[in-house]
Amino acid sequence: METRVCLECGSKVRGRTDKKFCNDQCRNAYHNRLKNDKAFAVKKINHILRRNRQIMLHLIPEEKGKTTLLRDKLIAEGFNFNYHTHIYTTKKGHSYIFCYEYGYLPLENDLIMLVKREEDGGRKQQEAVAESSGSKLVVSSNGRK
Ligand SMILES: [Zn+2]
Repeated sequence: METRVCLECGSKVRGRTDKKFCNDQCRNAYHNRLKNDKAFAVKKINHILRRNRQIMLHLIPEEKGKTTLLRDKLIAEGFNFNYHTHIYTTKKGHSYIFCYEYGYLPLENDLIMLVKREEDGGRKQQEAVAESSGSKLVVSSNGRK
């Protein structure tokens, strides 16, 4: 007969073959720890995403809504490129990587463009912000949503 050990404390488990814990206390302790580990993982990632957002928020001049800077600047601020909330691809095929309403587009020569997505502007305006480089796109508002 094989010997099974408690997943929590490692002591021998007697009884039914599907028993994984020596008692209720060990089972509860085991599941509580699993739950805490998962909550911690979520918290950790939320923290990284919020920090990425804060960094972009502080670097983008409010009146311009976007800026271009060196990748090193973001790294120096503690930006974590491994985490983002979503990707927005424009009609021209540029993929902006977002953390909430702030996003970035890697450019040539280690440059990065930061943009803020206007939440209330709808899709059309986002593209206007994203695609205009110097020349402003005029978005008509008559009847279009
Ligand atoms: Zn045990």
